[in-house]
Amino acid sequence: MTEANGSAAPLREAVIDASAIEHNVRRLREIAGTRETIAVVKADGYGHGAVTAARAALAGGATRLGVADIGEGLELRRAGIDAPVIAWLHGPGADFAAAADARLELGVSSARQVVEVAASARSSSVDPVRLHLKLETGLGRNGAHRSEWDELFATAAAAEREGGIRVDGIFSHLSGTSRADDLAQVALFEEGVDLAAAHGLEGRLRHIAATAAAIGIPEARLDAVRIGIGIYGVSPVADRTPAELGLRPAMTVSTRVAAVRRVAEGHGASYGYRYRAPRETTYALVPLGYADGMPRQASNAGPVSIRGERYRVAGTIAMDQFIVDVGDAPVEVGDEVLVFGDPATGAPLAEEWAEAAGTIGYEIVTRIGHRVERTAAESPGAQN
Ligand SMILES: *Cc1c(COP(=O)(O)O)cnc(C)c1O
Repeated sequence: MTEANGSAAPLREAVIDASAIEHNVRRLREIAGTRETIAVVKADGYGHGAVTAARAALAGGATRLGVADIGEGLELRRAGIDAPVIAWLHGPGADFAAAADARLELGVSSARQVVEVAASARSSSVDPVRLHLKLETGLGRNGAHRSEWDELFATAAAAEREGGIRVDGIFSHLSGTSRADDLAQVALFEEGVDLAAAHGLEGRLRHIAATAAAIGIPEARLDAVRIGIGIYGVSPVADRTPAELGLRPAMTVSTRVAAVRRVAEGHGASYGYRYRAPRETTYALVPLGYADGMPRQASNAGPVSIRGERYRVAGTIAMDQFIVDVGDAPVEVGDEVLVFGDPATGAPLAEEWAEAAGTIGYEIVTRIGHRVERTAAESPGAQN
């Protein structure tokens, strides 16, 4: 078997095209047409790098950034990002004081959290600490249930009058089950917004749509959309490709063939021999595995592109590697293997890996592991 030699380029690489993120934010702003755009950069910017994604999104016109937890917001501040950042998922003992000092905006789901944030605000030099009240409208996650709205709005309005906090927004999150289900959530949300107004909290930023609804449910766009997956150029829905939505994939994962082996008909491939050579053929070894985020469920299915030709994974994806059967193609050690990314490069889409693994594109990009080196796309090539 021929083995690969060392080389300067990273063995496993995820090229991040910030100009694609910038373009995608512009494109989604154009579609949604809302007053504000909240770019979601949680989970390390869906695997793209939170700081890279945040800067690119702001360049594309995002007016705020969204993260799940306070720690993620603090990371953006440490990188010098000054834009408004909302964090909406807090565990017990969440450090609201640190959040307040860092001028993070907080999504809060209960009167109790309002009281806790107001207490932190009193010891903070930041005045006021900005809140977004989260309403539970059906998804079953956090947010105040309808039965708690009166208490939530009364507590928030009182805290706002006392000073120290300001209710900037009211929000919720959709299930994406069907248009009818989403519209029912929007209707309930509007009831909440009206009730908040009756408590003196009128004219606050209303936001309920993530990428899918920002594109597909105009009634949900309201004052702002919180767009995550779309800014990375991955489609939020199974029936539309990024190109059909005018989006460009921002992450291209590639590696190089580590070894090639000519094998006889019937030769097994990888653990469990779930694939056997249908004839004499060449196995190419790809040094990416489930430790790098390649889903083992995509064994015998995930697509790659080598020298412009499409192949599928042959056999089981292992921790560090998988095999592709390249037939009689003249594939050599060191050849570039495009795993997924921008189709302009010839790469399969992340969505194709998602389909092969029975999951969604979100999971494919977000799970790419630490061994895969993130590098910046060479030229800004922004063909907006
Ligand atoms: C992750 C998340 C988003 C972004 O969703 P996408 O489908 O990636 O656009 C928006 N809002 C909340 C509350 C989220 O948790």
